[in-house]
This record gives sequence, structure tokens and C-alpha cells, in this order.
Amino acid sequence: MALITSKSKELYVQACKYLPGGVNSPVRAFRSVGGYPLYFKLGKGSHIIDEDGNEFIDYCMSWGPLILGHADNDVVKAIQQIAENGTSFGAPHAAEIDIARLVVDSFPGIQKLRFVNSGTEATMSAIRLARGFTGNSKIIKFDGCYHGHADFLLVAAGSGLATFGMPDSAGVTKGNAKDTIVIPYNDVDALHQVLSHNDDIACCIIEPVCCNYGLILPEGDYLQKVRDLCTRYHVLLIFDEVITGFRLARGGAQERFGVKADITTLGKIAGGGLPVGVYGASHEIMSKVAPDGPVYQAGTLSGNPIAIAAGIATLQKLVPSAYQKLEQLGQYFEDAMQPVVKRFGGRFLFVRFASIFALYFTDDDNITSVDMVKECNMQQFAQFHREMLERGIYLSPSGYEVGFLSIAHTKEDIDTTVIAIDESLAVVLS
Ligand SMILES: *Cc1c(COP(=O)(O)O)cnc(C)c1O
Repeated sequence: MALITSKSKELYVQACKYLPGGVNSPVRAFRSVGGYPLYFKLGKGSHIIDEDGNEFIDYCMSWGPLILGHADNDVVKAIQQIAENGTSFGAPHAAEIDIARLVVDSFPGIQKLRFVNSGTEATMSAIRLARGFTGNSKIIKFDGCYHGHADFLLVAAGSGLATFGMPDSAGVTKGNAKDTIVIPYNDVDALHQVLSHNDDIACCIIEPVCCNYGLILPEGDYLQKVRDLCTRYHVLLIFDEVITGFRLARGGAQERFGVKADITTLGKIAGGGLPVGVYGASHEIMSKVAPDGPVYQAGTLSGNPIAIAAGIATLQKLVPSAYQKLEQLGQYFEDAMQPVVKRFGGRFLFVRFASIFALYFTDDDNITSVDMVKECNMQQFAQFHREMLERGIYLSPSGYEVGFLSIAHTKEDIDTTVIAIDESLAVVLS
């Protein structure tokens, strides 16, 4: 059994002439799992097909946006229909109001919002807004939480940076980094310490569930304690729900955990596979955004009709039964993994929350901190990743990344996947 990927290899060689690492986003380059990336030509439902004709069950799902699966019929139809009427006006259009209403109805903390073109833009703008609203400069972020690639957020961030072992990025000035205070996730005392010793803090930005450095869940009532501390010290709380928004529940982590943020950032699912980011908050906070207020933020293609149509088509399908199906599928996966975890116990861990999962090569039986993820065996993950590809399963190409289920995945997909995991682990851990 050997996967033939010669066309991908040839494309990769060509791509490397023009694109750094042959890619437009670093982790795609397969550096942390070895070899070269696969080039894909088709996706339908839970399956993707590469240029050599190999078919895979996909769990990367474009890193999270595709909660309905690849090329969902309603999303595709919506894009086709709207494209015939023009792709962008750079002027308002009616569907912007429709999608704004859908988001506001889902997130009690959002009364007003602004659409941008990526998660990065959303968090960057949210922080500018927090600074503009409070008049303070410093921000608190949590080790391992990733909020996109804005300079002042590329400090102790996750995934791509973890993969490349960069504590930081070249090109980020000390000036940029000095206003960012980094503390451990799941550590209430650390947050209390920082808040009680600084009076120039604008906001605290957090992934309510850490999904960019493995999958780390908030322990106990951690999020409520973070909320209470921010309130007490008059610091705005930003929940970066670019992954968790519309994923953990319609109302994201805020609905799931019953904790309300001051500013929420969204992305990924909100664009249904097209480039969309969102930041939103109360009327009072959003009144600071231009042209109502002094915080400038703009975008040529922001809220363009195609991205908005894809977002609306996606959000319209995310009804309660969709989340029930995702939860059932997640539970089915978790149950099916139990015997496997038992067989390889002490060397391998499977963690699942809602429709997100992570695979760790570790002897820990619970992952609660970035340090624990750091100790996982990434060489074993790399070998495991190759074994899974051989068996027709496409996982995100880094041991620091999570996997995503979509409503297009089936129990048969999961059965096939669990057998592949079992066989691959037998090879890797033999
Ligand atoms: C993906 C992600 C971002 C960045 O979004 P882009 O669209 O890639 O710029 C920000 N925050 C979180 C939590 C993310 O997962």
C-alpha cells in the first residue's frame, strides 16, 4: 500500500518557484509532518480528492469554516445566483442587514457589528476598538491562543508558530510586543496578578476554548472567573470566537458556557467557506467605530455580496437539529475511540468537545495547559499523519491542530476513520 502523489509533488515543485514554501499559509506546507503538501481539486461533503485522484475523508475542513461540508448545495447555489448580479459594489446592499440580524440574534453580547475579510482583521480591529474605547494601551493574551497574524498578537501564539517553534515572528518590533502581556490559559491567579498590578490595560483577548494549540478546554468555571475579573478591573473582555462561534453552539462558547464577552470576534463558519470576519459588541462600544466614532476601520471588499450570501446560506442551515447531529456524531466518534484509547493507553489520547477533536501522543490522561501539549510527541504524530493518509484520512498537517466534524460526515466515515486510527497507531507505537 503506497499512496501515489506524483502530480502533487510536481505541482509543489512548480509552486515553490513562486510561493514561499509553495503555499499561501505556512502550516499547509506539511513541514511538521514531512514530505510535501497534497494539491486538491475537488471537495464534496466530507470527502476531498487530490490531483492524483486519491480520495480522502477530510477532517481539516478548511481549518473549520466548512461545518456543512464541502460544496454544500445551498451554499453553492447562493454563490452562483448572487455572482450573476455583480460581485461587489463597494456600496451597501440589503443582504448585509440580513446577515447582521442573524449574528445579532445568535450572540446576546452583540448588538452591532462590522464585517471584515478575515479572522485576523476581526481581532486586530477589535483590539483597536478596545483601545479606542478605554483609552488604555496594553492587552492581555493567553499563551497558546492564536488570534491571527497582527503584529501585537504574534506573541506566544499557537498553531503555525508552535509548529515552527517561533516564540515570536521576525518583523514584529519590540514596541509592538511590549504592550502585549502573555499569561497562561486556565490560570486565574496569573490573570488576577496582572490586572491588579497594571492600570493601562484595554482588554483581555482569549479563545474561550483553546483550539490552536491542540484542544484545551476551560477548567471548571474558568471563563466565568475571567469574566468577573475583567468586570472588576474595568477591562474589556474579547472572546475570539473565530473557531468556536457557530461551532460549539449557534451562539458559540458564550452560549455553551453562559458567559458574555464585551467584544466578540467571528470568522471561519460566518463566511461559509468564503473570506469573512466579524467584530461586534454593544451599541455603546460599537458607537466608537467610524463613521459613528473615532476608531477608524475600513475595507474595500468588506461585506461583499458573495461572501455574505455564502454566510447567510450557511447560518440558515445551522438550526438546532444541525447541532444535535454534530453532537451525536461527536459522541459516536468518542465512543468508537474508547477501545482504541484503551489498547494504546498511556501513549495516546483522544479528546473531543462538540464537533472538534484532537489526537495527542502523550501519557497524560487530560490536557489542560500549553506546556502539556508541548510535551506531546510530534515525531509520532508526523508518522501517524502519513499512515492516516495511506488509509484515506486527511488530518490537518500538524500535531498542534485540531480536527473538525461537519454535518456531512457520516457514521460510516467515522467507522472507517477509527479503523484507520487503530491500524496507524499499531504501526507508530509498535
Ligand atoms: C483562524 C483564527 C484566526 C485568524 O483567522 P484568519 O481568517 O485566518 O485570519 C483568529 N482567531 C482564531 C481563534 C482562529 O482560529
